[in-house]
Formats: sequence, structure tokens, C-alpha cells
Amino acid sequence: MEQYDFDLLVIGGGSGGVRAARMAAQRGVRVALAEAQGIEGLGGTCVNLGCIPKKLYAYAAGYADAFQESHGYGWVGEAPQLDWGLLKSRRAAEIQRLNGVYANLLRGSGVTLLEGWARLSGPHEVHLATLNADGSAGQQHYSAATILIASGGQPYLPHFQGREHVISSDQAFDLDHFPQRLLVVGGGYIACEFASIFNGLGSRVTQLYRGEQILRGFDDEVRHFTAAEMRKSGVDLRLQAGVLAIAREADGLHVTLEDGNRLVVDAALYATGRVPKVDGLGLQAVGVAQGADGRILVDDEYRTNLPSVYALGDVTSRVQLTPAALGEAMQLVDHLYGAATGKEARRMDYELIPTAVFSHPNVATVGLTEAQARECYAEVRVFRSEFRALRHTLSGSEERTLMKLLVDAASDRVVGLHMVGAEAGEIVQGFAVAMKAGATKAVFDATLGIHPTAAEEFVTMREPMAPRAPA
Ligand SMILES: Cc1cc2nc3c(=O)[nH]c(=O)nc-3n(C[C@H](O)[C@H](O)[C@H](O)COP(=O)(O)OP(=O)(O)OC[C@H]3O[C@@H](n4cnc5c(N)ncnc54)[C@H](O)[C@@H]3O)c2cc1C
Repeated sequence: MEQYDFDLLVIGGGSGGVRAARMAAQRGVRVALAEAQGIEGLGGTCVNLGCIPKKLYAYAAGYADAFQESHGYGWVGEAPQLDWGLLKSRRAAEIQRLNGVYANLLRGSGVTLLEGWARLSGPHEVHLATLNADGSAGQQHYSAATILIASGGQPYLPHFQGREHVISSDQAFDLDHFPQRLLVVGGGYIACEFASIFNGLGSRVTQLYRGEQILRGFDDEVRHFTAAEMRKSGVDLRLQAGVLAIAREADGLHVTLEDGNRLVVDAALYATGRVPKVDGLGLQAVGVAQGADGRILVDDEYRTNLPSVYALGDVTSRVQLTPAALGEAMQLVDHLYGAATGKEARRMDYELIPTAVFSHPNVATVGLTEAQARECYAEVRVFRSEFRALRHTLSGSEERTLMKLLVDAASDRVVGLHMVGAEAGEIVQGFAVAMKAGATKAVFDATLGIHPTAAEEFVTMREPMAPRAPA
């Protein structure tokens, strides 16, 4: 292996790349990690433009309701106003701190950090385009026994008249001026989250989605319930609606809708999907096989068609979530360099991945939707509870919570668990462990609730719904 500069060269310092580099270095492997954004990009999408800043803004948005609801609990006086500039700078400082933590973790594990744009120039070679201290362009060449591509994904924007005026989630965190009127286009989790966040922060939000209902892939009842709750909270959600054209005028962006209606907004945020970030990686020149959407094709060990080149995370378009990229990285390192002493080699398990949408209200889910469960099992028992959370008996909020359990009647196993309501992500994470352990409804029934909580509802639902046609 000494014939190469490194044993492993990782392209991309996001969730998957950082985890793989760090774990491999801890096995005594000579590792380099190239990150196009330099130290400031460490942590990738999740830390810089995804999970973390989004959740921080979701917390910020939550205060508006909390101030409003506090009156029901005897608090009096005016609610504080949002200082958008202050929120942005507080977020930026925290992200910068995290970038530094990642840099220290990598350096502390012995990983060589390379700052620049990496491109494959051979099965074992990487070309790195760098920026010199004086601002001029530089380049380096490195060789490695194994190359791992973890370059992530990027937003996809459709082509239409006025496309140049819209932003993606990448720009939404740092808008110069707070958008008093915001258009969000899309119906996936990122669109719903940003619609809820800006609605909570004080924007007048219109959300347009082409399809029949938001959150495709989630349980149908959860989708309808969430849409109704988002509307209740103030989002002007319009389904089967799309944009024809956008033009910039003195008073804002003039949006012409497909149904002929018009809107004037300060910003238009498109959350219309993400695609693998593969441009400029040199994949075609070196002969790395790709799927139709550009994704890098890999086998069960994350190996591409070139034996020395691997890929994982969003660039392979499997499960586009941070914990999946981390799990894939850990499997890869164990596979390539052996498991940690005394441990078994890890394998990424794609079954029962819990997931959350940090919309208002939150959605969280693990396992099958009702429609999927009915396809898989002859008889499905559906337990459902919809209620007003105790907090809202005094808060004045009309918000309601939905919880749903799907049980395979033959085995009594809980095969789907869904929640729409406050802290759904926090609650469902714990139940995901039970489901991974194969918990039956009888086990749920035998578990005492923590009283008074919303979560206890999951262990106190006794009567299944009457059999019904799929929603
Ligand atoms: C708005 C938003 C919200 C999200 N919220 C959540 C959430 O709540 N929970 C969750 O689990 N997931 C969430 N995700 C998804 C999550 O961020 C991704 O699944 C995860 O970051 C994927 O990790 P990765 O390592 O594959 O790629 P990334 O984290 O995208 O990292 C790729 C890195 O590679 C670098 N890079 C790319 N090309 C090159 C090159 N040629 N040379 C050098 N460096 C390069 C990039 O600069 C980047 O730093 C969210 C994503 C978005 C966009």
C-alpha cells in the first residue's frame, strides 16, 4: 500500500465522509479527506445547510406559538419580535463551532485534511483543485489504494420562466431580508419544514404542491392530517397547483400560477427534490457506472464497478438521511479494515428506519404505512387515537395530535407506528427500538404509560378500528 500517498482518500466531508475517514484512521489506516468548502464545509449538508440549521430555525419558529399560548397560562404582555439578523448570526456561530469540532475530531484521529475540489483522474488517483493563499488557483495530485466518494446531493430546480429568481433550501438560511411573503414550492419533507418554519417566524407562507397530497410515501391518513394541521397553523397550502412563470417587479416577485391566479411574494423557495452531486467528479472519464439520475451505482458493500472506488450516502440516492450515511460509512470501514477490537463487523440495516418531519406539527414514523401493511399482511389491525394534547387545554391552540399503530393480526407484531404532534420525533425514536426488537401489540399493552404524556397513548390504545377499506 506504500506505493500510494494514502490508503484511503475520501471525497466529501459530510456525514458519510467524515464518519468513514475518522473510523478508518482509528484502525491505523492512512486517510485523507478532501472537502471542497474547506474547514467551513466540514459536516456537509447536515451541519451546514440541512438538519442542524433547519432544526435551530424550527426551534426559533416554535417560540411564536409559545408566546401566544403562554397567555392561556397567565402570562401577560406583548410578545418579543424576531430579529432575523440576530437569528442568522447566532446560527452561523453555532455552525462554525461545529465545523471546528469536526476538524478537531478528524485531525485528532490522524486524518489529513485537503481543502479543494476533488476529481477522479484514475482508479487510484485524485486531482485536487485548490485556492492558494494569494487567491490564485492551484492543483495537487494524490494517489490512494481506495477512494471513497461521499459528495452528497444538491437541490433540483425545474426549468421554467423566471427560474433565476428562486432560491433553494441552500439559500433560505441566509436571506438578506426576512421574507414577509414567502412562496414554497414542493410537497416533500423539506418543503413542509420550511413552510412551517417561515410561517412560525412570521412570514405569510403560500405552499404549492403539484400532487394530490403532501408527504408522498407517508401514511395517507398522516398526510391528510398534517396538511389540515399545517393549514390550521396558517400555511396557505394549495394542492394540485404549480407555477407557470415568475417575474421580478419593484414590489416583489410576481408569480403566475397554472390556474391563472397570481401572487406577489418577497422570495420563492423551491424544494422540488434533490439530485446526487456528481458534476465535475470525473466519473465518466474514469468509467464509474451511474444510474439515470446520475447516482453512483454500488453493490451491497458500497463498491462501484471500479474495484478501488466506493461510494455512499446521498450520492448513491438510497436513503437520503444522515443516520443512513453514518451507518453505511461504518459498514464500509468494518468491511475494508476490520471491525473494532472485540466488536462484530457492522452491517447497515435498511429495515425499520425511523424518520421525522420537523414541520408544525412534527410528524414521525417507523415501519409500514397502512396501505403497505395491507399489501404485506392478510389482516391488519389499526389502532388510532386523535386528541387535543393536555398542553392545549389551556393554551387556546386548536392543534390536535394523531397516533396510529398498525398490527399484523397473525403475529400480533406492530409493523407500523405513526405520529403527528409535538415532539413526534423524540417519541417515535424510542418506539423504533421496540419495533426493531419485534415488539408485539401485547408487549405494548403490557407496558405502563408515563402519565401524563402524549406518548402514553401508544401503550393505551386498546380497541382496533372497525375493518375499513384502505384510506
Ligand atoms: C434542508 C435539508 C434538511 C435535512 N434534514 C435532515 C434531517 O432532519 N435528518 C436527516 O437525517 N437528514 C436530513 N437531511 C439529509 C442529510 O443532510 C443528508 O442525507 C446527509 O447530509 C448526507 O450525507 P452525505 O455524507 O452523503 O453528503 P453531504 O452531507 O451532502 O456531504 C457531502 C460533502 O461533499 C462535499 N463535496 C461534494 N463534491 C465534492 C468534491 N468534488 N470535492 C470535495 N468535496 C466535495 C460537499 O461540499 C459536502 O460537504 C436534510 C437535507 C437537507 C438539504
